[in-house]
Amino acid sequence: MKSHAKVVVIGGGVVGASVLYHLTKAGWKDVLLIERAELTSGSTWHAAGGMHTVNGDPNVAKLQQYTIQLYKEIEAISGQSCGVHITGGIMLAGTRERLDWLKMAKARGRYLGMELEMLSVDEAEKLFPLMDKKHFVGAMYDPIEGHVDPYGVTHAYAKSAQIGGAEIVRQTRVTDLKPRTDGGWEVITDHGNVVAEHVVNAAGLWAREVGRMVGIELPVLAMEHQYLITGDMPELVGKKEQLHAIDFEGEIYIRQERAGMLMGTYERAGVPWSETATPWDFGQDLLPNDLERIAPSLELGFQHFPALEGAGIKKVVNGPFTFAPDGNPLIGPVRGLSNFWVACGVMAGFSQGGGVGLALSQWMVEGDPGADIWGMDVARYGDWTTLAYTNAKVRENYSRRFSIRFPNEELPAARPLRTTPIYEKLLNAHAVFGDYCALEHPLWFAPTAEEAVDKVSFRRSNAHSHVGLECAAVRDAVGLLEISNYGKFDVRGPAAAEWLSTVMANAVPKVGRIALTPMLNERGKLIGDFTLCRLAPDHFFVVGTYAAEVFYMRWFEQHLPPQGVTVRPCAMEYVGLSVAGPKSRELLQSLVREDLSTAAFPFMSFRRMSVGMVPAYVGRVSFTGELGYELWVTTDYQRALYDSLIAAGREVGLKLFGGRALNALRIEKNFGTWAREYRPIYGPFEANLGRFVDFKKAHFIGRSAALEERDSGGALRLVGFSIDAADADALGDEPIWHDGHVVGWVTSGAFGHRVGASLALGYVPAAVASADGGFEIEIIGERHRATRLTGAAYDPTGALMRT
Ligand SMILES: Cc1cc2nc3c(=O)[nH]c(=O)nc-3n(C[C@H](O)[C@H](O)[C@H](O)COP(=O)(O)OP(=O)(O)OC[C@H]3O[C@@H](n4cnc5c(N)ncnc54)[C@H](O)[C@@H]3O)c2cc1C
Repeated sequence: MKSHAKVVVIGGGVVGASVLYHLTKAGWKDVLLIERAELTSGSTWHAAGGMHTVNGDPNVAKLQQYTIQLYKEIEAISGQSCGVHITGGIMLAGTRERLDWLKMAKARGRYLGMELEMLSVDEAEKLFPLMDKKHFVGAMYDPIEGHVDPYGVTHAYAKSAQIGGAEIVRQTRVTDLKPRTDGGWEVITDHGNVVAEHVVNAAGLWAREVGRMVGIELPVLAMEHQYLITGDMPELVGKKEQLHAIDFEGEIYIRQERAGMLMGTYERAGVPWSETATPWDFGQDLLPNDLERIAPSLELGFQHFPALEGAGIKKVVNGPFTFAPDGNPLIGPVRGLSNFWVACGVMAGFSQGGGVGLALSQWMVEGDPGADIWGMDVARYGDWTTLAYTNAKVRENYSRRFSIRFPNEELPAARPLRTTPIYEKLLNAHAVFGDYCALEHPLWFAPTAEEAVDKVSFRRSNAHSHVGLECAAVRDAVGLLEISNYGKFDVRGPAAAEWLSTVMANAVPKVGRIALTPMLNERGKLIGDFTLCRLAPDHFFVVGTYAAEVFYMRWFEQHLPPQGVTVRPCAMEYVGLSVAGPKSRELLQSLVREDLSTAAFPFMSFRRMSVGMVPAYVGRVSFTGELGYELWVTTDYQRALYDSLIAAGREVGLKLFGGRALNALRIEKNFGTWAREYRPIYGPFEANLGRFVDFKKAHFIGRSAALEERDSGGALRLVGFSIDAADADALGDEPIWHDGHVVGWVTSGAFGHRVGASLALGYVPAAVASADGGFEIEIIGERHRATRLTGAAYDPTGALMRT
């Protein structure tokens, strides 16, 4: 084994081998993979090898498409067969809701270029005669599905990497990692040490253990997973290879394996494996079968696919593989560690392994993953992902693998975990809570405790009319919203203003003022949107998306000067309440001594004030489009602030409102939000944030790319639409049609109660962004006429929030 390498990849499963190959492809040849046993010795060797392109996150779906296309390339380079069988696949719906879900998946596939097709049960049966059609109501067909040989794929990656210059060492275990003063790592193994510039944790089943070597607890947990292979079936003799099939109601996947069928299930009563630590002596082992546990699914499977029952069971496989709490991979550099990367928690290695390797290698070599991998970024999690939290969420995710997640469905596991001081008060006011970063926050308020429950639906739900009343109160009087679920950063120091001016695209505000600003990467793409509030020449209170706190901190720390600025995340030290509506000034004025008139405290002002007895930061901003104020207080004061606002609000018709109403209100104003309208695939001019980019500044990160975008106009444009919808609104990810072709996608949608219309925001090519007509938006499989709006649907001049 060599003593020095630019990169050491720990783990020779399908993911580590893919990372190794992609590093060589990106031009880094001095790369070494260290494998404890033989290649594939973790979860890879016993995988069923199934692969598909459909994924709930379109960006992950793109990387899955890439993975499947890659197999030809690595076979050609290595000469090693990947055993690719592209059989096509069929997803079977047993209920109307599932059929709606499939229609939505098909619609999403349209702008990804996927050729998905809806089938009647009769058509489905023709393609997949093993099914008993009486259990189903329809299906969706995907031509690009199939399976591979896990051994072949891993070795094809490995050989291709070796041909590209990589070295692979087997039967060698990394036992410890020591940081070096030069930013690299001393990789300690049971066969000598290696000095590495970078380390990649691709240790799969042992990713937690390798994480612990560097002091981190990665949110991954292995679950036991079983599939069985039937005896030979006469029904398959002389026939073309059967399709892959997913039977959602049976929670079963099924495909042909030689002359029999392979059937696996994600059972409800899933069992975690090695909950706290993975034994190092676990080799190419299987776990004892537990057919009892999967009996309910098998029973359904035999009813839905009767020929299988007579075929007998030839083999049962029970093996562990890892999941993150949301089921997506964990990739990227770990905040706070130098040159330490992860590529783990990959639960679908044969659909995602190639995309993971590509993104990680580009990130390491080019400094940017080259794709929108927010949904897979290890930085999407924070301190709340304790071992027990991860355990509860992974079990839930596993048990729901084939369940429908409705757009208004909040999942129950690990809740309530984080609450603010007014949680009980809001509960008593019949709040329906959502879970955001494990923090409970109110979504809407019901008139009674009995009604405070979301009836899940793809269509307008039981919350619709109540949300409407909340919006009306904000429009006509005043609403009170909890806004604690934002990220907050305390930025201080003599160089704070200069530093913010470099990392943010807009001008830094004067003392007592607020500026909205995008944050760009070097490619001029959006990696954040913030509210900068200036308290003093050297002190800022910065508000952004809470889910991206670790992501932002990782970026901030990479760009901080050695001295002169400190950035401290303080999300839960400051919690907030917002009052919005024409009577919000009257309400707040009754509690503060300062003059709140527009002349004295205009739009975008920020100041410390005492609100009643409570010391607060008060900002005059509004995400609702109405006159409004955001009040930030240290957590110990939130109850008192809430009580005084509620008491004073009785005079002016104050009503509580929640996140659902806020979403509708901001869409009426064309206000975007992180992870929906603002993502690293869009530039500021495409996202209509050009007015917040200050080219008068000689330097800020992404300036030259943003300048190019301004001059070219960018490829895309964020556009607002009103839709002739009936009982269902757009939610996000629906295709936008123009003159009979899919041209773009919806990023957010809601019913705009103030304007009485179904609304959506979405991206279309710049060339069609000013077309007058011809737009349609597809909602649950039906195309609806959409009218492009030339400005915000509500108060387009913005006069209300400024008066
Ligand atoms: C029963 C079953 C069926 C499945 N079916 C499918 C399917 O149909 N389709 C699909 O896409 N996926 C399937 N999977 C999931 C798939 O197996 C995983 O996504 C994939 O194996 C993850 O690969 P990995 O490289 O991340 O991890 P692993 O395969 O666990 O590889 C990690 C490697 O790291 C090595 N290692 C760990 N620690 C060290 C150390 N300290 N030093 C040196 N080496 C170390 C291990 O020995 C191991 O070889 C299935 C899994 C199971 C169990």
